[in-house]
Order: sequence, then C-alpha cells, then structure tokens
Amino acid sequence: MKILVQKFGGTSLASTELRSKVCNIVAQAKEDGYAPVIVVSAMGRENAAYATDTLINLVREVNPEPLPRELDILLSCGETICGVLLANQMTAQGMPATFLSGEQAGIVTDGKYGDAHIRYVKPYKIMECLEKGLVVVVAGFQGLSDDGEMTTLGRGGSDTTAAALGVALNAEYIDIYTDVEGVMTADPRIVDNARLLDSINYNEICQLARDGAKVVHPRAIEIAMQKGTPLRIRSTFFNSPGTFVSNQVYTINEPVKIINDRLITGITYTSNVVQITVPQSRKDHERKTDLMVFKAMAEADISVDFITVQPAALMFTVSREKAHRAEINLKELGLCPQMEFNCAKVAVVGAAMTGIPGIMFKVVEALEEKDIDILQAGDSYTNIWCLVKQEDMKRAVQALHDKFELGNY
Ligand code: ADP
Ligand code: MG
Repeated sequence: MKILVQKFGGTSLASTELRSKVCNIVAQAKEDGYAPVIVVSAMGRENAAYATDTLINLVREVNPEPLPRELDILLSCGETICGVLLANQMTAQGMPATFLSGEQAGIVTDGKYGDAHIRYVKPYKIMECLEKGLVVVVAGFQGLSDDGEMTTLGRGGSDTTAAALGVALNAEYIDIYTDVEGVMTADPRIVDNARLLDSINYNEICQLARDGAKVVHPRAIEIAMQKGTPLRIRSTFFNSPGTFVSNQVYTINEPVKIINDRLITGITYTSNVVQITVPQSRKDHERKTDLMVFKAMAEADISVDFITVQPAALMFTVSREKAHRAEINLKELGLCPQMEFNCAKVAVVGAAMTGIPGIMFKVVEALEEKDIDILQAGDSYTNIWCLVKQEDMKRAVQALHDKFELGNY
C-alpha cells in the first residue's frame, strides 16, 4: 500500500467551500493510487468559532492563567471538531472516510501539557481503516500520555503529528498544505518579492523553522529526517508543486552531486519578544546574581533566549506571555529588571554562513541604512539574530532581504 500523509492547516479548513477543495485534493491522491491519511488542525484563525486562540480566550475569561491540564483537554476539541466535520463531508461527497482522535491514531506523548513531544506511534488502527479502503482523518496537535492524560503538542503541532505518522506508516511523502505557495525566502506577508524555494534540504528548513518561519514546525522536520521521508510544502489554494524538502539527489548515470547548504536561505522573524536587562553591581556579582536569575527563570518554567552575561548587566529575552511572571519573580529576588516590552527578533539564516567574512557587516549596514536600532545581536553557525523594536520588524526583514538579494527582481 502506498501511503500519503496530507496535513491541512487551519486556514485551509475554515469553511465548507475550502473543505470541499481539500476533499478534491484528497480525491486526486486516491486517484493517483495513494491511501491518504489526513491530519487536520483546528479550523480558522483567531476569532473563528473553534480556532485554538478562541478556545484559549474562552478559558482566560474565567482564569487568566488557565489550568494546564484542563486547557489541553479544551484545546484538543478544536482539531476533533474539524476532523469530524471533514470526515463527514468527504463521506457525503462519495469518498468514505473515518475520523480518529490522536489517541485512537496511536499517538503517545511524554505527558508535558501544552508542549508535549511524541514518544511513539502505534499505527495499528490507522492501518486497519486504510485496509478497509477508508480515508483516515486524524486530529493533529494531540496525543495521550502513557498514563492516559490528554496533551497537546504546542503551536504548529499538527505538522509534528503529520511527520510522526508519515514516519510510522512508511509514507511516500508528508505533504503539508497551507495558505502560502511553499517555503519562501521570507514571509510573503511581509516581503512582497519573497521568492519560492522549490527545493530545500532538511538542515536548511530546520534552521528557518527554528528561527521563526512558522510555515512548518521544526520538530516535524526533525522527525521526518529520521527516516529521510520527503516533505512537500504546498498551497491548498493554488495548484503548484510547492517546496520539496529532502536530502535526495536525483542523478542516474551521472557524477553524484553533493548537497550543499545555501549561504543565505532566508530571513525570519519572531514577534512579541520582551527584552529583560538586569543591571549588576560588583556587590551583585558577589551575590551571584546570574545564578539567581537563571535559576528563578528555570523554576518558573520560563524559556530564556538571546542571553548576554556581562559584568555590568544580564540581558535576555522571554516571550510576551511569560514576561509578567518573569518580572514579578525577579523583583521578588530584590532585583530591578528593566523591561523592553515591544521587541522582535529578526534573523538572517543560512546553514553555510559559518566562517564567511562580511555577513555581520552587511546585516549592520542594511539596518543602519534604514535607521533601525539594533538592541542586541547574536550569532551561531547558521544565523545572525538582531533584536529590534517591534515597530521596526517588518522594515528590518525587508531591508535584510534586499541587502542579501534574495527576492524576485
Ligand atoms: P497553517 O495554519 O497552514 O499551519 P501557519 O500559519 O502555521 O499555517 O504557517 C503558514 C504561514 O507561515 C504563512 O501564512 C506565512 O505567513 C508564514 N511564513 C513565515 N515565514 C515564511 C516563509 N519563509 N515562507 C513561507 N511562509 C512563511
Ligand atoms: Mg502551522
């Protein structure tokens, strides 16, 4: 049996008409001889009745810091509603389908509420249904822990479900259908001349995804990579081949081409970042402020990023959701954190940039030319990040995209 996993994001499923389009895509896959397994997200984006953000807001109205366990039970309903509708719509259109929850599909997680990892997959029930000729629709983003707790996989987690099923079922491809043409050199909502990358290797897309290009979840790539299952990122709305993600080289009777990473793959961003500066005096130094600060953040389960430790100050960033809690905890330690609330992180990503001189110069020049202040900067082998004010973010992404000549001209 040739299995194809097809994952559809929330915007692709937002209305009956759109779900009809999805039915046609699935019907085509069947016609091409595949047994399709469909992974769905919750329908629509914020303000849509059953979207994940709507459900979060619903419970926040009664408790600003919702109970994590109960929140996961609530959030899992979004995908369940969507999957049940889609399976019904398919069946009504003459394509018999069935729906499975994450649990029924055999997704077993490590039990961490809100950000669970998939530990293993027991795909037996899916196989049974496929053998009966049914299209199997699976709720993305959810799974049950070993001790029976409902957990969700974090934002973008349906991609992870799709990748895990693709690997577990030996699928030929994992297709991620979304609302853009494929993986581009920058978010096309921000950069008009962003260019489609028709093929990209696992390493490159992983770097882009980790740095905020939310078109696909980085964990999904890591999982697909384990077995070398190729992914295709494509649009639900137009018929185009999208982006092919693999490390495969097609050469028959020719010298074997070695895949190299691109110097610069694209520009990414992460919004809603808060910069925290904790000034230190010599006396603080003796008190080991750095140890106190990072211990407090760890104990409060607050992930810190962009860390700079200097004798005069500690600087780091946290997400906006965690900023308030971080500020309270630091003040309780007798520290005076300075909070810069409206920041964004922009990154130049390229897995082959290491050791190439002049890239940081170009980054600074691009931002300088547009009068954009760099609040903090950092780098790794594969990227250079700059923290900028949120209001400068779009211009910064465009300026960097232009400077590195990544677009369509
Ligand atoms: P879905 O609901 O289908 O999972 P997401 O919103 O999670 O969709 O991801 C698709 C979005 O990712 C696009 O609408 C686009 O705005 C954004 N995006 C960010 N960076 C990129 C990029 N480099 N290439 C393509 N899309 C990107
Ligand atoms: Mg997504």
